Amino acid sequence: MRQFELISPQKFVKHEAPEPILGPGDAKIAVKAVGICGSDIHAYYGEHPFMTFPIVLGHECTGVVEQIGMEVRNLTVGDRVVLRPQDVCGKCKPCREGRYNICESLKVLGCQSTGGCSDYYAADAKLFYRLPASLGFAEGTMIEPLAVALHAVKRIGDCKDKKVLVLGAGTIGNLVAQSAKALGASKVMITDVSKEKLEIAKKTGIDYTVNVSRESLEETAREAFGMDGFDVVYECTANERALNEILSIAGKGIPIVIVGVFAGMTNVNLANVQDREYTLLGSLMYTEDDYYESIDLVNDGKISLRPLISKELSIEEMDGAYQYIEANKSTVQKVILTV
Ligand SMILES: [Zn+2]
Ligand SMILES: [Zn+2]
Repeated sequence: MRQFELISPQKFVKHEAPEPILGPGDAKIAVKAVGICGSDIHAYYGEHPFMTFPIVLGHECTGVVEQIGMEVRNLTVGDRVVLRPQDVCGKCKPCREGRYNICESLKVLGCQSTGGCSDYYAADAKLFYRLPASLGFAEGTMIEPLAVALHAVKRIGDCKDKKVLVLGAGTIGNLVAQSAKALGASKVMITDVSKEKLEIAKKTGIDYTVNVSRESLEETAREAFGMDGFDVVYECTANERALNEILSIAGKGIPIVIVGVFAGMTNVNLANVQDREYTLLGSLMYTEDDYYESIDLVNDGKISLRPLISKELSIEEMDGAYQYIEANKSTVQKVILTV
């Protein structure tokens, strides 16, 4: 089978690899689509702190079940599925508490071990989830980032009737905003510096958009949310200035969820965190429940994924896909490779 391996920065090679061999609890899929994620782009440029070369990328992956191991009960051949790319130990303290998304020895498939950029892919059958007929393979890859977003939204507990501010309208920010609405938030505002990304935010039904390169966030937030302001902030920019602006304008006592992946050390105004009793919450990946809920939300029409797909390319055009992303950095959302 064809397999596409990133052997050094900006260098993919296509080679012939043996088809994966199944263990009794594994399933093998014929890969149909693979999404390119922000972390893949860091890997492509050799800037991912927890990834080494060579690596087969592809953690946002859909396909059709081709073969199942003897002990597999949850899948049948022909099922259309999406991968949950988490390899966890099941024994550490977070795992024992059901928080395996933060397993002490978490490996992300397609990041710290082989991913789906190939004709066939095999993994533990429990990591594959059936897609409803309404969901195509390309959109289906976005169940993964949607689960990231949904998990982040639920870090504060219930967001029903909450006034929500999301910083950053990239794929994750957009999906955080859509998820908050889907879970009953009363008003959702999203920020960015990209006109195009804010247009897409509007298309996907987000109530308020703010272009922070031209408008004052403090003023627009006051107009939209009133004097009491917003109830929660989701930080999806990984931008130090954006985070510190929030720590200076947000009303006292609210939770601030850190979803963006900050590179290196960040200067944070902790004096304000203390003085205003903000609650800073981290959020990483998702659990199985987030996957089921994400699939249901899309199937129920409460989340729209299509507007977030900027381009679909054949997996043969792997290099071209990364070049396209580089050339359209400020506007591009999701690029999908089809197999
Ligand atoms: Zn991803
Ligand atoms: Zn563990």
